[in-house]
Amino acid sequence: VEDVNYERVLKKVAAYVEPHFGSGQVASYIPPLAEVDPRYFGMALYTLDGQLFVTGDAHKRFSIQSISKVFALSIAFNLLGDDVWSRLDREPSGTPFNSLVQLEVEHGRPRNPFINAGALVVVDILASHFAHPELAVMQFIRRLVANESIDIDLKLARSEQELAHRNIAMAHFMKSFGNLQNPVEEVIKSYCHQCAIAMSCAELAVAASFLANRGICSTQSTRIVNAGQAKRINALMATCGTYDAAGDFAYRVGLPAKSGVGGGILVVVPGVATACVWAPGLDKAGNSLVGIMALEQFAKITGWSIY
Ligand code: GLU
Repeated sequence: VEDVNYERVLKKVAAYVEPHFGSGQVASYIPPLAEVDPRYFGMALYTLDGQLFVTGDAHKRFSIQSISKVFALSIAFNLLGDDVWSRLDREPSGTPFNSLVQLEVEHGRPRNPFINAGALVVVDILASHFAHPELAVMQFIRRLVANESIDIDLKLARSEQELAHRNIAMAHFMKSFGNLQNPVEEVIKSYCHQCAIAMSCAELAVAASFLANRGICSTQSTRIVNAGQAKRINALMATCGTYDAAGDFAYRVGLPAKSGVGGGILVVVPGVATACVWAPGLDKAGNSLVGIMALEQFAKITGWSIY
């Protein structure tokens, strides 16, 4: 690790993107998300020796949305090991996160755990082990951050659930192929609640540190997944974590990441640190527009890359 002043790095990154604050489009298909001020910007960096660096709105909580898929997968992977791959693949989809077309061609078997169809299968796996999978995910996160106040935004969850027609269609579709064991309504409800967990950049960076640390949670010194699983979750983030723009993200940033339509992007620097950026305006692929600009600059300054 280079000896750099991370405080200054984050300041530089924030100054670089400041002229662009408010750029992009906030997600509008979940009404409460449309109300979020697009000018927020926060970034946090958590190093494996336990230091936290922040800038801007790094302590303000936002809807983690698809970033929750990383935590849900981690629980399922730890429970089932490689058996999780009996029901889903690990290839980038090249289609939007909520696409139905590919599912039909591939007989109800999702391309990867980070597109919606795959995430629904992961929830279904959890639903066979926990009465309330969304609470299992929330408690898992609370434990990782050592913060009991992390919670689900119920208003947002209900709002998404009411408008979840496409995800419901996808779930029924997979069920028709025998790739969903629990009732569709239960899986959808858990999924929407899991997506509505609210966290800050600082909390997300801390929560994900086990992925940079060969599966060991650095705040608790406990094993969350094994080292091979941590490596593979990172590989899935690198190849499938930023919707169908994962290639461009790899080119511009070069680090494993998972984004969500709430405007957050969680990043892993294996062996070194985790980072999270939040700016609610999204680009055409659904990734935070200013967030990617910030991460591109951040990767440039630190020289961190897995490639
Ligand atoms: N709850 C969102 C959905 O399924 C998650 C989308 C996302 O963040 O990619 O539509």
